[in-house]
Amino acid sequence: MKACTTSLLARGLLRPHSSSSLLAAASPQSPRVSGLISTRSSLARQHGRIGFSRSFITDEKASGASKKKALPFAFAFDIDGVLLHVAKPIPGASETLTYLQQHNIPFILLTNGGGKHEAERVADLSARLGVSLSTDNFVQSHTPFQELARLGGGSFGSVDAADAQSQEENHNGSLRHKNILVTGSDPAKSRLIAEQYGFRSVITPADILAAHPSIFPFEPLLTERYAATARPLPTPNPKIDAIFVFNDPRDWALDSQLILDLLLSEGGVLGTYSAKNGRKDLEGHGWQSDGQPRLFFSNPDLFWSASYDLPRFGQGAFQGALAGVWAEITGGKASLKSTTIGKPYALTYAYAERVLGAHRAALLKSGGGDNTKKETVEAELQHEMQEAEGGEKAATGGLDGNPLERVYMVGDNPESDIRGANEYRSPAGTDWTSVLVRTGVWSAERGEPKHTPRVVVDDVKAAVGWALEREGWR
Ligand SMILES: [Mg+2]
Repeated sequence: MKACTTSLLARGLLRPHSSSSLLAAASPQSPRVSGLISTRSSLARQHGRIGFSRSFITDEKASGASKKKALPFAFAFDIDGVLLHVAKPIPGASETLTYLQQHNIPFILLTNGGGKHEAERVADLSARLGVSLSTDNFVQSHTPFQELARLGGGSFGSVDAADAQSQEENHNGSLRHKNILVTGSDPAKSRLIAEQYGFRSVITPADILAAHPSIFPFEPLLTERYAATARPLPTPNPKIDAIFVFNDPRDWALDSQLILDLLLSEGGVLGTYSAKNGRKDLEGHGWQSDGQPRLFFSNPDLFWSASYDLPRFGQGAFQGALAGVWAEITGGKASLKSTTIGKPYALTYAYAERVLGAHRAALLKSGGGDNTKKETVEAELQHEMQEAEGGEKAATGGLDGNPLERVYMVGDNPESDIRGANEYRSPAGTDWTSVLVRTGVWSAERGEPKHTPRVVVDDVKAAVGWALEREGWR
């Protein structure tokens, strides 16, 4: 069992989460990694270095100006395996975040986790770490979906050129007032999150099953599980404009049936079947070419580590299963078109950079400190998102004269954190510097990481120490 888990972890297929063996396996005593930069020799010195005092806000009195200036760097932290292990703080994590807050150094928390609203997740995280955190600098896997309630599907278009028709349709208006289908580990909860994001007509599989019990002929499920959360459909057979998988689905059978029904429908209308499906004279044999809803997944993680000895299927496994059924239906004539966000994909990094830019600007405008004014950040973020238009334009956070030159991405998973930072090309020219820690899914015993980080350090405290030293923080 352990060998299997270890293998999956080493391959980076396992979402860094919670296995009792992980921390022990990721021993800080692991040997130097060939070909990588190891900073172990200076760790003790760096640990002591977190304590130097210098403000994020500097006063340019020396040059005769009183204009405030922002630092050119910031941090992005993964959560599981970096700040928390089995939901408990990793040593030094709380101290490090507190230090950054006290010195007005901007950072963002960037995780592939999900299933709770950002406010709920941040409250839980604040309690566990003993650090007051905010949703203003927090991005989980489905957080970018809220942009679609405001900007429309076209805002996700830059990394998904395959679905031009749907992009064009969605770009003409946001999805705020459109019917969307959401599912996840708890579809009813996913609906509440989607509504908080601004979507006004959110439908769950339970709603459809309650309205059309014969659509999935396994009656006990309806009465035992779904009836309690079902709401009336807006019309008997509504037109669905988008499908969102918020996190790991609970009922693959029902969810697969309904998603595929809609992907085969005429224009996304429930209960219909497109006449274009399978037509040899059409491009892609006509599959997904008749105005069907666009399909969004929030992260690609194939496995995740839960309390059971063996890793459990994540959302990536559901995606694979759905794609397999799709291949059977279409005879392999057309691959399933969908959009997946989350780390390591550029769309999520672009979104995170815009949030970080807005947070950085708000820190400056609010005078710095950890007393960030929520309304300032929200206004700044709104402005920034509208300006950036889905990553097509560089995000400056209103600090055109003070560009964000570097973001240190501190993560434990080479496949998501490190790969994402290495591959992302910022429209603002910001360099995402990947920093791999040993407190999570990767350790030197498992071989060199598939995606090479800029540096390997023991833990998050050492990561920040290394970065601050590199930035000449004195
Ligand atoms: Mg992690």
